[in-house]
Amino acid sequence: MSALLEVRNVSRSFRTTMAVNDVSFAVQPGELLGLIGPNGAGKSTLFNLIAGVLPPSSGQILFEGKPVTGWKAHDMARIGVARTFQIPKPYRQLSVIENVMLSAFLREKSIAGSRKLAEATLADVGLADYAGSPASALTVGLLKRLEVARALAMRPKLVLFDEIMAGLTPTEVGAMTKFVAELPVRGITVIWVEHVLYAIMKTATRMVVINRGKQIAEGTPAVMARDPAVVKAYLGEEMILA
Ligand code: ADP
Ligand code: MG
Repeated sequence: MSALLEVRNVSRSFRTTMAVNDVSFAVQPGELLGLIGPNGAGKSTLFNLIAGVLPPSSGQILFEGKPVTGWKAHDMARIGVARTFQIPKPYRQLSVIENVMLSAFLREKSIAGSRKLAEATLADVGLADYAGSPASALTVGLLKRLEVARALAMRPKLVLFDEIMAGLTPTEVGAMTKFVAELPVRGITVIWVEHVLYAIMKTATRMVVINRGKQIAEGTPAVMARDPAVVKAYLGEEMILA
């Protein structure tokens, strides 16, 4: 079986900064891949390249074996790649359900159909009670759930989560971790960028570690936690494992 996603020697520079430098990895269907690295490592940029928000400077991206390098975000969404943004950007003046409906329209052309898919997705992420609230009224924890709902309402095959735990309470982290861990069982492959390492370490099937744009390690969470290059990359940063 071919990989769901293949990233081959992908690089992206911004003027003099090599934000992503020759990164290669593959993701198999049903995996929950943890992508970690210190601040500025290039994680969000890598997500932008995979999701078609930015084109790579060089390298290739394949989805289900098909070359998709340089494809735009809406084309990537259509073939099944959805992402959340590190900084939630909901339409604040719209209601929670309207925000999710905008994503649902990718799959459901009618208003009724899109509302139904949005309702199911809100229930899924535990936001059903907030459907009619303006997005601007949500707390950080609820905004993160809205980001997740907006991505899942696109019915993705692959979802990219960018720091969906930041700012959450320990209880919210627990609930979100459980939710994310179940997605592969439901047929949604996950790549998860997270600073709350203990959450990702306990759920990821495999991890890719990057630092200063370069891939420095790849393996199971247990092996990564003992890898000297990984530990060194996190020196001076909080490496929360317990
Ligand atoms: P991470 O998500 O791992 O914290 P980023 O991908 O956000 O890292 O950033 C990687 C590097 O690329 C940083 O040095 C950042 O300043 C730079 N960078 C990211 N996006 C841009 C951009 N649009 N323009 C210029 N530099 C950028
Ligand atoms: Mg980032």
